[in-house]
Amino acid sequence: MRIRIGRTLPPAAAPIGIKDLVMGLVALFAGKKSVRNLEEDLGRFYGCRYCFAVSSGRAALSVILQALHELSPEREEILIPAYTCFSVPASIVKNGLKVSLCDLAPDSLDFDFDSLERMLDNPRLLCVIPTHLYGTSADVQRVKKIATGRDLFVVEDAAQAMGAEQNGVQVGKYGDVFFFSTDRGKALSTVEGGLILTDNPRVGETVQKIVGNVPNCSNRHLICLIFKAIALSLFIHPNLYWLPKALPFLQLGKNKFDPTFSITKMSSFQAGLARKWKEKLVSFQQIRSRNALSILSANSWTQAAIVPEVGERIRLPIFVEDQAAKEKILREGDRRGLGISEGYPRSINEIDHPFNLSYGRSFPSAENTARTLISLPIHPSIQEKEISKIAGLLKELLPKAGDQ
Ligand SMILES: *Cc1c(COP(=O)(O)O)cnc(C)c1O
Repeated sequence: MRIRIGRTLPPAAAPIGIKDLVMGLVALFAGKKSVRNLEEDLGRFYGCRYCFAVSSGRAALSVILQALHELSPEREEILIPAYTCFSVPASIVKNGLKVSLCDLAPDSLDFDFDSLERMLDNPRLLCVIPTHLYGTSADVQRVKKIATGRDLFVVEDAAQAMGAEQNGVQVGKYGDVFFFSTDRGKALSTVEGGLILTDNPRVGETVQKIVGNVPNCSNRHLICLIFKAIALSLFIHPNLYWLPKALPFLQLGKNKFDPTFSITKMSSFQAGLARKWKEKLVSFQQIRSRNALSILSANSWTQAAIVPEVGERIRLPIFVEDQAAKEKILREGDRRGLGISEGYPRSINEIDHPFNLSYGRSFPSAENTARTLISLPIHPSIQEKEISKIAGLLKELLPKAGDQ
């Protein structure tokens, strides 16, 4: 790998400022009350009676799955998109449940609904997880419609869609239960973290009981989080990001399948970091939307690149013509420090692991997505001239309309 020294864009960033750090430290002294405040605030905002803050998005999903399995112990398969974050199958495996995959529709980031309808006719299915990749990209209402009457749950994976709306409706409204991640690369960051929301009393009460037995964040981990928050507030800045990016042991941007993560409550420090969540989500989203529009309008979009339909985005996803084009753009983007990244490197059926009932089976759209999707940064730390550089690079490397 060539190491680049100098201004380098991270692929995604929800900056943590000095004020956030101070609020985090102040919250440490308020203790559990700050976590409860965050949960109550969010619950009120989303019209959900139940909201729980835990250590990560995968911890949130894990707790949700445990609760649902308790409600329907005879059902143990979880239906997920064949292209999604590796943490999703990891959470399923952690609970001893089974992963079942549904392909995506071509050139989209949502389910292929024909396959989905067939797959929902399964008495062992516990829940289906429509997933908002890059923003709001899942038609959860449609999933809910097909699922109704089948005695299975719809869990909305809104890990990447905190604060987003779809046709004027808040994310989460159509699922039985939904969750956000507040990890580094998401809409809002508390270094790491997850939020569970539901207005369904059966699900809510069961989740509450489980979360009640989850351990608190240890003091050791808390100190680690404080240092990470300080490092993140400095090094996520494009002028310094080249440094952590050059350190291979940090493995920035790597997606690993790892079902051995721990589940704890969110610390009061993290709740403090999130204190201004509403204002930050709104202002970040305005900037991201503006940046996405600038890139899109600066380019002469050709048939070689397809922008999938996604609502408010945290990154701008684009399908390019083939894997060679993807690799060329990533390589050149890396050289110029433009923060262009791939999505997930493989589809879930390509993870070689004993859990994987679908290993070796074929999910053509998901596989094609892994080969041809790139994402462009649109976060608040980008400068205008970098937007032009990104647009310029695409213009240079993507074939023009009419080339053939
Ligand atoms: C990030 C992410 C998760 C997991 O969240 P973590 O906080 O990283 O554990 C789950 N699903 C999707 C779609 C994600 O992007």
